[in-house]
Amino acid sequence: SDHALEYPKTPADMDWVSLYPAYAAKTATEKENDTEFNESRAGDGKEQTKARGITKDVEIADIGCGFGGLLFALATKFPDTLSLGMEIRISVTEYVQEKIRALRAQNAENKTYQNIGCLRANTMKFLPNFFRKHQLRAIFLCFPDPHFKQRKHKARIVSTMLCSEYAYVLRPGGYVYTITDVRDLHEWMVGHFSGHGSFVGVEGRELEEGEVGQCVATMSTETEEGKKVERNKGEKFVAVFRRVEDPAWP
Ligand code: SAM
Repeated sequence: SDHALEYPKTPADMDWVSLYPAYAAKTATEKENDTEFNESRAGDGKEQTKARGITKDVEIADIGCGFGGLLFALATKFPDTLSLGMEIRISVTEYVQEKIRALRAQNAENKTYQNIGCLRANTMKFLPNFFRKHQLRAIFLCFPDPHFKQRKHKARIVSTMLCSEYAYVLRPGGYVYTITDVRDLHEWMVGHFSGHGSFVGVEGRELEEGEVGQCVATMSTETEEGKKVERNKGEKFVAVFRRVEDPAWP
């Protein structure tokens, strides 16, 4: 349950270095030569590394990433972007973390898979603890648990309040990508995002072109659930929403 979940007080308190060690802000040698760093260094210096963080921000979040199929694809599709999978189940999170370690070791020469990380989180509660306002350029909500029964709808990861949180962490011009095989959930997500002032639905050619097109294709084919639906010849419902600029105050 949630009380066992660790989450940072603010995004700056997050230990990003342990998720993306290749992007640590300073190398050991640089630190040795950095007087300001040495003067402020306390204890074993670990705290300092943490505070310095990483050289890039996470820009893509895969919410409820499951076994990480999309995340592993994002690693090579967007090699210069840090992507983060967030998952509530402990064993599933550990599986993804273990696979990232293995892929990094296997690809040590070409340094791929350094740009993805996975952490355990209840994203319905703590999203703004991990990301600053307007930090993200893409959020994936792939095959969220449908929670079919009416009284369970409050457990869905799309609601008016959660749309506001997604809008907070997503930059204007960024996108939310959704996919599901459950028509009712698709309509629910479209209703909530379209009805929220911070988003507009993306239609037509825009869904096929550029980064949006790439993201739509990737989430349709690379997620574990997407593959399962494919095998069962089921239907996939895709919807994409652009985060609009906040209105200027009069
Ligand atoms: N996105 C993956 C895919 O498409 O293959 C997994 C889909 S699976 C049906 C939904 C995932 O969301 C599960 O792994 C579940 O544990 C996770 N999840 C559900 N609620 C969550 C929450 N509040 N925070 C983080 N993850 C959550």
